[in-house]
Amino acid sequence: MPEFRQNIATRDWVIIATDRAKRPQTLAVNGATSPIELPSHDEKCPFCIGNEELDLETDRIPKDPTQPWQVRAVRNKYPALSEDINFHRSFTNVERRISGLGYHEVIIEHPAHNTTLALMEPDEIALFFEIVYRRGWKISEDPRIEYIVYFRNHGERAGASLVHPHSQIIALPVVPNVIRKRTEEARRYFDDTGQCVYCAMMHNELEHKARVVVSSQYFIAFVLYAAPTPFHMWIMPLRHDVSFLYTKQEERIDLANVIKQVLAKLYIGLNNPAYNLIVRSSPIKEIENDYLHWYITLVPRLSRTAGFELGSGIHINPTLPEACAEFLRGVNI
Ligand SMILES: [Zn+2]
Ligand SMILES: [Zn+2]
Repeated sequence: MPEFRQNIATRDWVIIATDRAKRPQTLAVNGATSPIELPSHDEKCPFCIGNEELDLETDRIPKDPTQPWQVRAVRNKYPALSEDINFHRSFTNVERRISGLGYHEVIIEHPAHNTTLALMEPDEIALFFEIVYRRGWKISEDPRIEYIVYFRNHGERAGASLVHPHSQIIALPVVPNVIRKRTEEARRYFDDTGQCVYCAMMHNELEHKARVVVSSQYFIAFVLYAAPTPFHMWIMPLRHDVSFLYTKQEERIDLANVIKQVLAKLYIGLNNPAYNLIVRSSPIKEIENDYLHWYITLVPRLSRTAGFELGSGIHINPTLPEACAEFLRGVNI
């Protein structure tokens, strides 16, 4: 029997199409190009060693410019938004607009052209989180910024245009509607129950274990009960806090280990699928509360959105979340 399931934090419904459920392994991508088949250096790649545009650089590790870099942050050469803009708001009749203020940066995760987070060592991934943390704090100092989106597109189907391992940061002068809706739902749940809805969901996963993929000292990675798409996962800190920016260094090191395991399982088990990875923190000015809880969303791009999803906002997931989690737990890395 197919069933509807609801994500209690977002109130989004999904249809789990159990009657025509596919076995998770049948979703493995055919013939995806593995980064290791590429050269380690590409002279045409703007992120490769020797092609660095130093005037765009905002941070690097190590800081010493005479040392070879391991991870860099740069301003996007073709930014969606600009930080050097006068902030202006207008609202005439029904036309509301504000100037295109914001930050758009790229994190170059590794000097090698032919790697990806799934193949990196956990200490290399920890450097990536370190620079994301530093840039996040730096950008948050700008009082005009309300929300920061940290994201990674892997593979063409996820919107990546360059293969060199990289992520992006876009900082906005507005709180996106999807975040505002989540904040309102979380506040409502807290009013009703006195609990953080995300903590409640996490404790449910820890208790039932069927959808848990990886757990560690500080984090749990699980396939969502109401996963809209196959293998849709949340990686959540066990400690309640509103933002990635309030993590401690030991937590970020642990997070690097968890991300490595989850991405390596996807890489091996599903043959390097495209995915989007998004850090969902609270709005910058929501610095402490009992109802918002930061986490990372990982969305493998194994199915396509079509008219029904656009028309209803309801996804049809052709896999059982429990079966996806079981499959990933069984992938040895
Ligand atoms: Zn490159
Ligand atoms: Zn919580």
